[in-house]
Order: sequence, then C-alpha cells, then structure tokens
Amino acid sequence: MSGLDAIRETIRRDRVFDFMLDKTLPAVDVSHTVLLYVEGLSVSFDGFKALNNLNLYIDDGELRCLIGANGAGKTTLMDVITGKTRPDEGTVYFGQTHDLLNKSEADIAELGIGRKFQKPTVFEQLTVFENLELALRMDKGIFSNILYTLQSHQADLIASVIDTVGLREQIFQQAGALSHGQKQWLEIGMLLVSEPRLLLVDEPVAGMTAQETESTAELLTSLAGDRTVVVVEHDMAFVRSIARDVTVLHQGSVLAEGTMDEVQNNPEVIEVYLGEAP
Ligand code: ATP
Repeated sequence: MSGLDAIRETIRRDRVFDFMLDKTLPAVDVSHTVLLYVEGLSVSFDGFKALNNLNLYIDDGELRCLIGANGAGKTTLMDVITGKTRPDEGTVYFGQTHDLLNKSEADIAELGIGRKFQKPTVFEQLTVFENLELALRMDKGIFSNILYTLQSHQADLIASVIDTVGLREQIFQQAGALSHGQKQWLEIGMLLVSEPRLLLVDEPVAGMTAQETESTAELLTSLAGDRTVVVVEHDMAFVRSIARDVTVLHQGSVLAEGTMDEVQNNPEVIEVYLGEAP
C-alpha cells in the first residue's frame, strides 16, 4: 500500500463523524463563457488614479497573465476583485449574477475566488499533509472541532491535491524544511483544497530556481481548464512559457491584450517599456 493509500485508509477507519459538513460552492452563471467581468473600474488614492476606467474580461477556464511595470495597478486590481479595496467607480461581476462589489472579502472567498500572495505563508511547524488538512478545515469552518476527522472524500481531495502540486514525497515533511518553490506549491495546494473557480496568483516564480520555475509553469498550466487562473508576473520568460492571453496594464488601464507575440510587438507596449519589448 502506498503512503497516500495508507493515509486514506487510516482516515476512513478513524472517522468519527459522517455527516455532511461540506458546503458546496454557490452556482456561478458562465453561460456567456465569461467568468470575470471588470468594467469602468477606477480607484484613487489621495487623488492619484491607481486604476483608471479599466475593462477586463476573463473567460471561464482560461489562464490569463497580467503584466505591467511597477505601479501599473495589478495589485490594486486584485485587491478590488477580492474585496480588499473598494473602487470609486465601475463594476465587477463573477459570472452573470454575482456583483462582487456588494460582497465582503469572506463572501468573495466563499464564492470560489482564491488568492495566492507573493510570499508563501505556510505553517512551518506542520507537515505538508497537516497544512492541507488545516486549510480544508478552515475552509469548511470546522477549525475548532477537534472531534471532526476528515471524511474519506476530503482525504481523497487532499491526496489528489498533494499529487497535483507534486509534494507526494514530502507529505510528512515539515513545511519549514521545504524549499522556497515547494512552499509556494504547498500554498497553491492550500488554496486548491477549497476547490476555487478562480485562482489569482501573484508573482509565483519570484525567487525560484530554474527547475522550480519550470515545474510551476507546468502546474499552473495544468490548473487552468478546470478552473480559471490569473497570474501576475514580471518574469517575461515565464509568462511566455505559460501564456495564452496576456493583458498589459499601464497607469491603471489596459494598454494591450493578446498573445505574447502580439503584445511584445505592440508599438505602444514597446514605448511604455522604454523601447524594450517586455
Ligand atoms: P508592482 O508590480 O510594483 O506590484 P502594481 O502594478 O501591482 O505594481 P499597484 O500596487 O496596484 O501596482 O499600485 C498602483 C499605484 O497605486 C502605485 O503608484 C502605488 O504607489 C499606488 N498605491 C497602491 N496602493 C496604495 C495605497 N494604499 N495608498 C496610496 N497609493 C497606493
């Protein structure tokens, strides 16, 4: 029996409760294929427009890369989508019906929007498995229930996430002993146990080795399709390796959109990047 099978078996045997504590994600209407609608979005900080009448449409299942120089507004856009920052103007819809601007950060997360910040924030003293288990408990609101043990399908979910993020061999290793890249993958895994529909990933390969960067490209590419992935990244070689569609932000607006080749050959983009293609 493999290590993972043994874990599944143990969890099945030790199960204390077998009632449904699972919450299902609210339905999201993507009948028009678009998952995220951002229209006319403006955000000012002391009169300075961090976002300026920004329009962005992300299709269900796509992998979109957001690029732009420092201060272009990428983080502010993520902050608005996740409810951290309220805009002055504009609309943000998740599917046809969910107006994100009327929702709290917690409600937006419950809709299935997960955000991965640049720095990994795993629990260093816990093992890989325990980190994922904890993330799942927190997601299900069962953090404080010590009697609750995972249901078998939840154990299966954790096992499958461990495989997805490539940490099978590190399953019982303390997170603190993982490499930087492995910690990033673990944190992506901690988001995946909530089964998000939209994953917002901020500079995933900063500080990674070439090998880790390559594995991260494979991971993010594999995650799209079943879910929608938006990646903010400065590493253009990495963006080229994963990008299907790229959106270039500049001074809080969309400057260009298209394939990597299209945006790199766009005269306005070249000008903004001071004569050098991004
Ligand atoms: P980077 O690539 O450096 O992370 P970015 O594209 O994410 O940049 P933002 O962080 O969204 O850009 O910032 C856009 C602009 O808004 C910047 O000029 C920034 O200084 C400003 N800004 C962002 N947050 C605030 C804030 N809370 N108060 C004042 N100004 C802010």
